[in-house]
Amino acid sequence: MKNEEYRNVWVFSEVKEVALELLSLGRQLADSLGVELGALALGNGAEAQASEYIAYGADRVYVGQHPALSRFSVEPYTDLIAGLAGQHRPEVLLIGATKRGKELAPRVATRLGTGCAADCISLTIEGESRALQVERVVYSGNALAMLTYRNRPQVATIPPGIFQRREREENRPGEIILAELPIREPRTRVREVREKEKGSVNIEAAEVVVSCGRGLNHPEDIQLIRELAELLGAEVGCSRPIAADLQWLSEDHWVGLSRHKVRPKLYIACGISGQIQHIAGIRDARIVLAINQDDAAPIFQSADYGIVGDLYQVIPALKEAYQRIVKRES
Ligand SMILES: Cc1cc2nc3c(=O)[nH]c(=O)nc-3n(C[C@H](O)[C@H](O)[C@H](O)COP(=O)(O)OP(=O)(O)OC[C@H]3O[C@@H](n4cnc5c(N)ncnc54)[C@H](O)[C@@H]3O)c2cc1C
Repeated sequence: MKNEEYRNVWVFSEVKEVALELLSLGRQLADSLGVELGALALGNGAEAQASEYIAYGADRVYVGQHPALSRFSVEPYTDLIAGLAGQHRPEVLLIGATKRGKELAPRVATRLGTGCAADCISLTIEGESRALQVERVVYSGNALAMLTYRNRPQVATIPPGIFQRREREENRPGEIILAELPIREPRTRVREVREKEKGSVNIEAAEVVVSCGRGLNHPEDIQLIRELAELLGAEVGCSRPIAADLQWLSEDHWVGLSRHKVRPKLYIACGISGQIQHIAGIRDARIVLAINQDDAAPIFQSADYGIVGDLYQVIPALKEAYQRIVKRES
């Protein structure tokens, strides 16, 4: 099929917040291409979501409701999205780079015989060719790769939090279409679903993160980090050795290239050397404060503020100073 036979921009995320961000980006791309913006709402509550998507910029929403879609499962979701895209031929298909979206997007792209660019942070349309140009961070954040597509649809995944949602527009016109496509019997079966432990962290959404590394001497010293975090209303983060090797904290706390990328307003790195794999996870932090006893530690090159000193002395002093200021101002 020729590229010219594809038209319109589509977005999908199973997480509503991310879907709204994609609608904002999708709207910009659709306007610059002079086409419609479509969205996919699948699973429970999809119809109510569809009206929301219209209010946030979609012209048309395809609603898929089927018992197999009630809980996310990659096989039926792939069937439906690839089936609909094969039928309606969007030229751009944006999928939220959530854990599930990352599972889904390459499968959908493969099913459609096209490519998928992952974790795109900038997307523009190249003039006459109508081709999508995307940028993605590579080599642990040390370079930007720019890609474009030969085939259609052009599938890209977008990390949460990169684009801001638009203002909600009451009574915005749009069309809701019930998608009726056959869904195959999944080849995998969910045997058990266990709720995540209570109190588990969502470090990627935290506004303040106090993180620790191998500068800590004993597992019980994490209490020092917890106390500072509690005072600041922060989540506790850590470097890989703390979670993976020493297992003093669960992987939910692990920051860096191989786990969680954080984007807090404030990131406090305590006894973390600042190796590139850790820095890759904190590039989007607004302010980085590093505490390290080695003034040559690489973390200071990535920090906005640095305190050279023993964390066992610096953290209590910080806590005390913070409490003093809060008391004075209250
Ligand atoms: C493929 C790959 C992927 C990886 N992914 C990740 C990842 O996602 N996240 C990650 O974090 N790492 C990752 N790593 C590991 C990474 O390379 C580093 O080994 C790791 O980040 C180092 O952890 P650290 O800073 O806690 O420990 P160290 O490098 O040992 O640093 C400890 C620091 O604490 C300081 N210190 C010691 N005592 C004190 C004290 N009393 N007060 C103040 N400062 C003190 C020291 O000066 C030192 O700078 C990865 C590595 C590989 C090969």
